[in-house]
Amino acid sequence: MPQQQDQTIPSYLDSENPGPWGIFLEQVDRVAPYMGELSKLTNTLKHPERCLIVDVPVRLDDGSIAHFEGYRVQHSLSRGPGKGGVRYHQDVTLSEVMALSAWMSVKTAVVGLPFGGGKGGIRIDPRNHSPAEMERITRRYIQEISPIIGVNQDIPGPDMNTNGQTMAWMMDSYSTLKGSQQPGIVTGKPIALGGSLGRVEATGRGVFIVGAAAAKDNGIDLNGARISLQGFGNVGGTAARLFRDAGAKIVAVQDHTGTLYDAEGLDVDALLLHVQKTGGVGGAANTTCIAAEDFWSIETDILIPAALEGQITKHNADAIRARIIVEGANGPTHPDADDILTQKGIVIVPDVLANAGGVTVSYFEWVQNASSFYWTVEEINQRLEKIMLDAYHAISATAGEHQVSLRTAAFITACTRLLEARELRGI
Ligand code: NAD
Repeated sequence: MPQQQDQTIPSYLDSENPGPWGIFLEQVDRVAPYMGELSKLTNTLKHPERCLIVDVPVRLDDGSIAHFEGYRVQHSLSRGPGKGGVRYHQDVTLSEVMALSAWMSVKTAVVGLPFGGGKGGIRIDPRNHSPAEMERITRRYIQEISPIIGVNQDIPGPDMNTNGQTMAWMMDSYSTLKGSQQPGIVTGKPIALGGSLGRVEATGRGVFIVGAAAAKDNGIDLNGARISLQGFGNVGGTAARLFRDAGAKIVAVQDHTGTLYDAEGLDVDALLLHVQKTGGVGGAANTTCIAAEDFWSIETDILIPAALEGQITKHNADAIRARIIVEGANGPTHPDADDILTQKGIVIVPDVLANAGGVTVSYFEWVQNASSFYWTVEEINQRLEKIMLDAYHAISATAGEHQVSLRTAAFITACTRLLEARELRGI
């Protein structure tokens, strides 16, 4: 077989701080030995199909003009149109968006959705701008990336600091540009504009579905099981409620305002209400606060990181005393920590599987928009459960077959699907 030539991997990547794109490249290298005949195509995964950088000029409220850098990356379009959110953050970079779009390719392939992977972003701190400025920035951004997006080309959605309102502006601008209604151009829209029932809860519900399946496989009875969560927002809050409904005890919760612990189980409904009122769990009545650094060493059956990237590192992995980790957040575990946890026998249900419920219901939204026929929330939750469980069982079987972790198995499954499609379509 001819040797693969690849001169484009940046030399600045190092193992201490590889950055998100460096982590993705390492993940591809780890699955390359399992790709068999397809391994000749593995390097295609290391090259996003398309990266667009756009200038987003905007007139600010005071009359001055500002410029922001925007991105849209389509990592892979082999299995279908691009799919992935748009992030507004002051630290967004092209390489971060490249990694996030690659993980979307993996995620959509893991759960078998007919999508590729895309992601977008604008390097901006939205806290410094009025809603009117954010609206103008959003509309100009969508105009600038309009040549490469489309209902059957690439479908943005919400991510950090973007929401249903942002999606409504995007849909309106794009529809105006095309001269026709284009509800399917974005997902995560408000229900009044063709959004899907069940979308808000979908990621947390998916975390619960695969978490419950993994608990069963590992001999954990959910009734009385101890759960700890980092993050009590959309994903963590929903997952906590569903695990509690299944009989589990939420023994610890950490968010940006505090860390709470109760061996007998926290009152989830009271906490949800407190977060709704105050924005965080800190200061909730009848709760005990513990030091933030003690969160990781709490003995628990299921640990759910559902807040930020890069939270579990080689510095705290050794202290973790959980039987299963279900990754609600994107990229919460550094690869070094992954190895430590796996050696300790802790089962990790990886993000690309565990939090795929959100993109799955986004897919349902896109399908409903295409047919202009809308489903009940029961239909949505039923279909979501089937897709998540089928994916979990397929990944589990692959892990067993190759004697690898669920993360490696998820990457084997996804990369095989991506490369099979790529081979059939040709270079
Ligand atoms: P959210 O904004 O609703 O909640 C975020 C939570 O993280 C909050 O409880 C916040 O207090 C907590 N948090 C923030 N900084 C923290 C810190 N320094 N320490 C501890 N906790 C901190 O966000 P979300 O939608 O629940 O998303 C959570 C994670 O799930 C993110 O990684 C996101 O990328 C991922 N995710 C979300 C979806 C979705 O559909 N919402 C889909 C896939 C993945």
